[in-house]
Amino acid sequence: MQKVTANVYTDTTFRGCNPSYIVTKDGVVVVDTPQLPTRAVAMRAEAEKHGPIRYLINTEHHVDHIFGNYYFKGAGTVVGHKGLDENFMVVGPDLDPFAYAKEALPTDDPDGEAIFPDRDEYFRDPNRPSVVFTGDLTLRVGGTEIQLIHTPGHTPGQVTVYVPSERVCFTGDTIFSECQTWLLTSNVDEWVAALDRIRQLDVDHIIPGHGPVTTKAYLDVQRSVLMEWVTAVAVAIARGWSRDEVIERINFRERFQVDVGQGYMMDHIQTKNAASLYDKLIAGRRP
Ligand SMILES: [Zn+2]
Repeated sequence: MQKVTANVYTDTTFRGCNPSYIVTKDGVVVVDTPQLPTRAVAMRAEAEKHGPIRYLINTEHHVDHIFGNYYFKGAGTVVGHKGLDENFMVVGPDLDPFAYAKEALPTDDPDGEAIFPDRDEYFRDPNRPSVVFTGDLTLRVGGTEIQLIHTPGHTPGQVTVYVPSERVCFTGDTIFSECQTWLLTSNVDEWVAALDRIRQLDVDHIIPGHGPVTTKAYLDVQRSVLMEWVTAVAVAIARGWSRDEVIERINFRERFQVDVGQGYMMDHIQTKNAASLYDKLIAGRRP
């Protein structure tokens, strides 16, 4: 894995989120788990070389951040926001998270098939949070302070994990670094406010949900992506475009690649982003 600071490691190279861990004097704190089974098993083994895993924090409920929890059973206490817990592996109108995790195996982790549970087996104990909180929460592990800051927007239970002593934060998908932004389950107004809250943190490195490790300078880029999407759809509605026309004509394909392993989702992202913003704005709701 990539060593970001003296005690912080991440991996931005394979399909799924950027799973990470923090090493303290009294064991390891994991932040999000690999979606791909063999990667999850390998990361657990690597993290445990630094000491026992004390906590596993999930930054958001999307499947690529939580599915790998299954392979971390018995490794520390799982911590998540109430908004994450309420949405943990819940089937939505657009996505069955369990099926989505399985669908990645042939292309991205063929060896993972052998250790992929069937649906009943998985849901008997997916290793969901046992500590569920609202607002913010501070953990102190081996003298290292770890702040879990509620930064909703991309999802309702979104948290930013801030480690002041390492001058690092982990944002989950509040930041899509140099790759396409998924906003179909989002509240963009809250998301922009979340970026402002992250701006207040004293950090040199931001570990995003997807894409390369970045810095606070990227907060402006992420804000611009969100505001451009909302503005483009709002302008289209003012011009009287139909829902189909909005989906057909508004996209930001050229801006970024899709994150590794998900290139085939490009049309899905563009369509769902445009449709979700249209539906909210046309109903007079905040985007
Ligand atoms: Zn997400």
